[in-house]
Amino acid sequence: MHLSGLEIFKYLPASKKSEHTNCKECGCPTCMAFAIKLSQKQVNFDRCKYMSDELKKLCQKKMKSPQKTIKIDGLKIGGENVLYRHEKKFINRTVFAIILDCKSPDFEKKLNRIRKFEIKNTNEKLKVDLVILKNGENYKAKNLCDEIVYIDEKDFSKLSIKKIVDGNFKKTAEKLIETRTKAIVDRNEKYSDPVYVYFKSTQDKLALCAKASYYLCKYANMLVFEDFDESLFSTLITLRQNIFTDPQKALQVEPKIYEFNNPDENSIVFMTTNFALTFYAVANELEDLNIPSYLIVTPAGGMSVLTAWSAEKFTAKMVAKTLKKFDLINKVKTRKIIIPGLLAHMKDELEKALPEFEIVVGTIEAYSIGEFVKTQLQ
Ligand code: SF4
Repeated sequence: MHLSGLEIFKYLPASKKSEHTNCKECGCPTCMAFAIKLSQKQVNFDRCKYMSDELKKLCQKKMKSPQKTIKIDGLKIGGENVLYRHEKKFINRTVFAIILDCKSPDFEKKLNRIRKFEIKNTNEKLKVDLVILKNGENYKAKNLCDEIVYIDEKDFSKLSIKKIVDGNFKKTAEKLIETRTKAIVDRNEKYSDPVYVYFKSTQDKLALCAKASYYLCKYANMLVFEDFDESLFSTLITLRQNIFTDPQKALQVEPKIYEFNNPDENSIVFMTTNFALTFYAVANELEDLNIPSYLIVTPAGGMSVLTAWSAEKFTAKMVAKTLKKFDLINKVKTRKIIIPGLLAHMKDELEKALPEFEIVVGTIEAYSIGEFVKTQLQ
């Protein structure tokens, strides 16, 4: 159940033309803007002091999350509101956990492997989320100052999370789908606890990866493994990156100057927009080149280069403003900027806007950057 912006608006001062209409005290320019934000859960209802008690009660009843959120230190498990990602977005990433027996002879070895494991994404370091310590009374996990969260098995067992032991794939999948559907669609409180799937060890690696991938998509809030395997976690983390994004927002990275292979003031300079897919394609190539370089990422609303250009989000004037903001002229002695091949038609325009720099037209595809750089450095 959901309250639309219009339903909420009916109860606000502006619809009744009463005192405080569009007073802006909630931080929104109008009551309508507040109503829309509230319906999208972007603001809390207590931001408007002039809301009727009737609306407050309605919000509390209808806008309560159908699935509980469980917190373990900084980790949040559950709290989902929709059945399908395209309806809104999934809220809290599926948590990947390992259960470790502190009395096991290879405990330290396993723990070291888990702690060492990480996947570097340009904006974050991705690691195992949670380690559940069995027989860990004397193990001072809190001294392990790293990004992984640790919890004693006894404390973990007290949390309101429903456990499903992985066995028959069809039955496990059906149970997960039924639980999430009853919680979200039927709003049946009996199903409001988050759910985790427990994988026993000694499973065929390929089957384990296939099943875990499916449960990640539908609808486990957490996956707990008895064994740790780097390839399995790399696969699951990568898949998770693609599911837990907001489909209403363009995938974008922070506009700034990115550095590859320890560049200095004489290093080569590339430019692109902040569309995530383009950025990662170019960034991977630059990283693999083993040549020091800079990549200027301009703000373009997460659009690819041609789309940004046609939407006037990548104009020569805007690029000049961005480079000024990044202080490129004082950062490098290089006076050449390599632009994407798709923007070749902007060369003259960019050179006029950036008289200090020579604009070099680069490649259309990121995979050709290596060859292109060789010709530039000759
Ligand atoms: Fe409207 Fe309330 Fe916001 Fe004032 S504080 S603009 S009355 S929603």
